[in-house]
Amino acid sequence: MSDPHDLRLEPRLAYAGSGIERAAFRREDAAALAALGRDERTGYYALAGEIVVLKKLGEDADPLFAFAEARALGDAHETAFLGLLGEAPRFAIGLDPAAVDALKARNDLRFVDLRTIAVQAIVGAEHLAPLAEAKALLGWHARHRFCPNCGAPTNLVQGGWRRDCPACKAEHFPRTDPVVIMLPIAGERCVLGRSPRFPKTMWSALAGFIEPGESIEEAVRREVQEEVGVGCSRVTYYASQPWPFPSSLMIGCHAKALTDEIVIDKSEIEEARWFDREELKLMLSRKHPQGLTAPPPIAIAHHLISAFVEKGADVLG
Ligand SMILES: [Zn+2]
Repeated sequence: MSDPHDLRLEPRLAYAGSGIERAAFRREDAAALAALGRDERTGYYALAGEIVVLKKLGEDADPLFAFAEARALGDAHETAFLGLLGEAPRFAIGLDPAAVDALKARNDLRFVDLRTIAVQAIVGAEHLAPLAEAKALLGWHARHRFCPNCGAPTNLVQGGWRRDCPACKAEHFPRTDPVVIMLPIAGERCVLGRSPRFPKTMWSALAGFIEPGESIEEAVRREVQEEVGVGCSRVTYYASQPWPFPSSLMIGCHAKALTDEIVIDKSEIEEARWFDREELKLMLSRKHPQGLTAPPPIAIAHHLISAFVEKGADVLG
């Protein structure tokens, strides 16, 4: 068992690194997909909005349902083909949250949100990326039942990877929203901030959505300037992480800070300040004398910080 707080260099991110091959060519043939859905090797992930439905297994939980078990959960709003795990097909079903209330009478099931599942390691780590794929995709369907072009009801096609409008013939594809998450670095120090939503002791990397017409580098510089008033020059990409709340891709970067003074945008963050590498190391290992913490290893912010602790400003390349 490895120490979850060790300062490893290789990021091991929750929701990334799926073992599923998406097998997009299988999406074309609806009848063949339906047959695949009844295969005895097939496993279904079942979600209802923020909630994942799990089978109880003692203290643990199994997120995969066989075809008949999935049917017994009730009518699915949507069924989507996630891909193949080796020979085993993997699907996701989106249930009506109201129908899930009725399932709560069953004592063989658990109902847990995906953040809690990851933080508390309630299911095997290999299930987190497929669950993220399922949640982002089903969430997109739930918000796109009507054509944004003409307002007519749309139909799910291509195994859940497109919605078509029968009225204006527009084709709509699932969206991913890019978010930059970054550490401004000056020598031995970097800036972390606190959102009002955070636990009182937690500090994390700054983050914000990329706006239309922006590059990753431009979005990093703009967000750092807006949130803490620090100017940045060089931006170095580190790693990315799917973040299905509801459908983001976190793009992790380090940035070279050019200025020192911090001026906070109070509408976005509560506090921000410089931290040196020694203090960050104590936070990552949960040994900080004032109990300050950094995000847990499931989040890319943890790995952005640990890479800086490990390499210092050399992380900027
Ligand atoms: Zn339309």
